[in-house]
Amino acid sequence: MITVEEAKNKLLKNTHISSQELIGIDKAIGRVLCEDIYSPISLPSFNQSAMDGYALKLQNKNKYELIGEIKAGDNHKITIKKGQAVKIFTGAAVPVNADCVVIQEIVKEENRYIIIGDYTPGKNDNIRLIGSHIQKGEIALKKGTMLTPAAIGFLASLGVRHIKAYKSPVVSIVTTGNELQQAGKPITAGKIYESNSFALSAALQEIGVYPKFIAQLRDDKKILHSTIQRLLRASDVLILSGGISVGKYDLVRETLQRLGVKELFYKVAQKPGKPLFAGKKRNKMIFGLPGNPAATLVCYYEYVYPAIRKMQGFSEYFMPKKYVKTSEAIRKKADRAYFLKGKSAYNGVLPLEGQESHMMKSFAEANSLIYLPLEKGDVKKGEEVEVHLLPRT
Ligand code: AMP
Ligand code: MG
Repeated sequence: MITVEEAKNKLLKNTHISSQELIGIDKAIGRVLCEDIYSPISLPSFNQSAMDGYALKLQNKNKYELIGEIKAGDNHKITIKKGQAVKIFTGAAVPVNADCVVIQEIVKEENRYIIIGDYTPGKNDNIRLIGSHIQKGEIALKKGTMLTPAAIGFLASLGVRHIKAYKSPVVSIVTTGNELQQAGKPITAGKIYESNSFALSAALQEIGVYPKFIAQLRDDKKILHSTIQRLLRASDVLILSGGISVGKYDLVRETLQRLGVKELFYKVAQKPGKPLFAGKKRNKMIFGLPGNPAATLVCYYEYVYPAIRKMQGFSEYFMPKKYVKTSEAIRKKADRAYFLKGKSAYNGVLPLEGQESHMMKSFAEANSLIYLPLEKGDVKKGEEVEVHLLPRT
């Protein structure tokens, strides 16, 4: 059996970053830039008024001759002389030789003149100077940046419409088990509702991945073989749930072996999720997650999530971690690592009731996983523990 640390190292060493593609910024949310973006223009690209008011050329008196008006979007080449002003609006191009903009609220307009109240205008007041936000040719966003709504808006403001980003992997999900029944119909004897595909699909969607195929299969060698073969061809990442343990009807591992999947590891010294399988075929990653729902999801967050993040081009693969005090003692044997569903706050974490691997109620209340390494024994109340913060959309 391999340790959690060894398993993660081996997995990430074997995970490749996805290839690149040119995409429209309207489709780029959550994607990672694979090259620096240089600004194609200066921003603002002309001296721009920050306010509604009057652009003027300074003199000593507070009375100015009003010679015209410039609205946002206008393109007149007005020049003004000392002692003259133009009415101007937010976002409009300030006359090239204007000294400043005086806000409308402190100005009185009379006939063809304006009088400024109790205020001494200063050079460049209320003018956004050319290139003061960014200069043409300067780096706007660095390689490795994740495109957030703000980053996308910024790129659009520079006139950038397409960018090169790492591809998001194509992911498919396979659930296995004769007992599984689709939600929405009354349950029949001996069956349970299939839930892992929903949890996995939702977790993937949190990182911008919409599963390509979701198959629900019986524990049948032929069916498993043909469907897994087909989905492997169509996917970069294949996530299987169930059928990976040692029971007579656990057929996933042998099916994967027969399909030429190279095993990276099988069985990790951890609870939950001991019979975790990870494998590879060319650059495709294959995960066999134990079927118990909480084990499935723990293994997803701790192993599948970081592998996909690496493929997506992120430099931080794992969930953010922090070290805080546990508000309850935890019984633990020093033979395996534990992942416990926890509710963490700023200065502490509560290990929740219901830690068994089939229990999802506690997982639904959790916002983090408490990680206790293999060699750790019982944990005292108030002891500091490592906490992994679950991603939240
Ligand atoms: P397995 O890993 O196939 O031995 O399954 C372990 C436990 O998880 C069994 O109680 C299964 O019924 C349950 N299980 C397996 N797959 C799913 C699934 N997709 N949804 C809900 N429970 C599952
Ligand atoms: Mg099963």
